[in-house]
Amino acid sequence: MITDNQTKKGQKLPPLSERLKKLGLVRDWDFVLHLPFRYVDETSVTPIADLVVGEDSQIEGVVIANQENHFKKSFEAMVSDDTGTIKIRYLHYYPSIRETLALDKKVRLFGTVRAAWRGKGLEMIHPKTRALKADSTLPQTLTPVYSTTEGITQTWLQKRITRALLDVDISDLLSEQERQSLDLMGLRAAIEALHHPSPQATLSELQNRTAPAWKRLKFDELLAQQIMLRQSREIRNKTQGPAMQMPEDNQSLTKKFLNSLPFELTGAQKKVWKEIHESMASSRPMNRLIQGDVGSGKTVIAALAACLAIDNGFQAALMAPTEILAEQHFKKIIDWLTPFGVNIAWLSGKQKTKEKREALASVATDADIVVGTHALIQQSVKFKNLGLAIVDEQHRFGVNQRLSLRGEHASGLFPHLLMLSATPIPRTLAMSYLADVDVSVIDELPPGRKPVVTRLVSIARKDGLIEAIGTSINRGAQVYWVCPLIEESEKLDLTAATETFERIKEKLPSISVELMHSKVTSEEKTRIMDNFSSGRTKLLVSTTVIEVGVDVPNASIMVIEHAERFGLAQLHQLRGRIGRGGTQSYCFAMFGNQLSDTGKERLRTFKETNDGFEIAKKDLEMRGPGEFLGSRQSGVPLLRFADIQRDNELVEKARQLADSWVRNNDPRASEHANRWFETVGNYLDA
Ligand code: ADP
Ligand code: MG
Repeated sequence: MITDNQTKKGQKLPPLSERLKKLGLVRDWDFVLHLPFRYVDETSVTPIADLVVGEDSQIEGVVIANQENHFKKSFEAMVSDDTGTIKIRYLHYYPSIRETLALDKKVRLFGTVRAAWRGKGLEMIHPKTRALKADSTLPQTLTPVYSTTEGITQTWLQKRITRALLDVDISDLLSEQERQSLDLMGLRAAIEALHHPSPQATLSELQNRTAPAWKRLKFDELLAQQIMLRQSREIRNKTQGPAMQMPEDNQSLTKKFLNSLPFELTGAQKKVWKEIHESMASSRPMNRLIQGDVGSGKTVIAALAACLAIDNGFQAALMAPTEILAEQHFKKIIDWLTPFGVNIAWLSGKQKTKEKREALASVATDADIVVGTHALIQQSVKFKNLGLAIVDEQHRFGVNQRLSLRGEHASGLFPHLLMLSATPIPRTLAMSYLADVDVSVIDELPPGRKPVVTRLVSIARKDGLIEAIGTSINRGAQVYWVCPLIEESEKLDLTAATETFERIKEKLPSISVELMHSKVTSEEKTRIMDNFSSGRTKLLVSTTVIEVGVDVPNASIMVIEHAERFGLAQLHQLRGRIGRGGTQSYCFAMFGNQLSDTGKERLRTFKETNDGFEIAKKDLEMRGPGEFLGSRQSGVPLLRFADIQRDNELVEKARQLADSWVRNNDPRASEHANRWFETVGNYLDA
């Protein structure tokens, strides 16, 4: 049983404004543009005898039986009309449902018809349930359904949106002439038609977003995106960056570092390095993303770029999203560059005051390169002369965080920005989503890597797997055991990880096992990672904190518990932690017994493909670009309604209009972009 301000697990919900913010709903305009993601037809009632499995239907009937199961916290009822009976099931429920579904009550239900879970007949799970009063009439129009979050009901959203529609000045920024030549309907009418469909509206047109009203809104969205792309490009064109020359001298840091590497750069690394130093030679600040599969060797290239900056008398900064990863970079940079007398500083949020003060002083005076976490972008950090900002795993940072590392140079120069990402976004998509970014791709792995062999294992075989892994460890293997994220609850995460940890210790008493999770102190983390890197610890049980960037080449086995709960890209990231040494690596994706069809499909893809770009493509097909990228990753807010491919024709038209507005300094450009993207202001200010 759940109440309004609690979740299913009894946790308290964040305040309303926070919940709304999660949906991107802050300003009135956000509500106006929070368009339904689907519609349902509640204008008619289907006799129970005519119901078809798989269809969304509305029925009316009388409750002839009901049953509450306290143990399972579920509620069931049987509802009959003149033609038949259907079972209604709630797996968790608001107390009010007991009243609505009390014996002999008349109800109207809307939901998906399914074949009953046990036994014969039909059922609906969690249908929309309403008491049927004597004067209940059927709605005349299609009902919009809005994307929402826990604790915000459709009814509340509908009312709030209706109010916003009255409060906001929805003036049409397109002139009559522009509208006609683009064959678009008026803005106000289009928005009204989508929130409050007319009785004549057809479900399929609204559902498939082919209605003229949708065309107008998609166009407007694309127009806003195109305006942002242009504006950010213009701003960058006006700023000055430090032009850096590639040194000829063999005694330069860049050359010495390159020559000291124990391997030769792959062809792809060479190509990307060339793209980077060529853009760093320009006085237009670089804004470049290196995409490369996990293990493709992005870090070396980033270090080379840092050397180039240092050779030119500038500082470089390297920011990573987690302590663990930042520290690994720090150590690697020390190994690589201290032999040449490079001065390296370390900044982290968890540093002691004195240590931090010294680090800040060094950053302001003599540090050549600064490595750290978010601590790098705090107010107190003043660089002497930052020439290159490197952001690893850039998708972990928001746009503003990325840009604030770039900051402004004391001399008025904007540092070059280099971002690294292992989440491969297909190039065309990157070009249209990332604001004004150049993309370099490392599409080749260093030689000698053996592709990881992936096996799917049922969770029922966990004990067997633990034993098999014990045998491998005795033969020299090191193992990551990844426990899943449990629905946003770090506490439950930890419980699950701890259980697994205890079970493994019990089954493999002679093997050194450690547990890593987000709650351990940073000293603990360092110690645990050191132990694992050096091979003293054989098996590392961990929540997903190891997801990014960690590099322990001897680790050749990974178990991912409840792999079905991870996204494809995330699974691939995780798997990228192994297969880095010379031996054959294995990944065991363990799945639970509640595997959905898409879950199955995802795991099958994961098993069959090792190629990050292939995986990204699949992920994109299965989830669509919105979810795939996540708005934090893209520099430009994502398209919610238009689709770059399907609405190709509109993209072209939006591009032309954006061009002409921006070129003519038309004030409508900013006004329009602001309606759509609240962050636009921040973005351009950054
Ligand atoms: P990424 O950050 O792209 O996941 P890293 O830069 O961490 O990858 O590189 C993975 C491993 O491969 C590191 O141990 C690195 O030293 C090594 N490596 C990088 N480039 C090469 C290369 N050209 N040949 C051999 N090994 C390489
Ligand atoms: Mg990396």
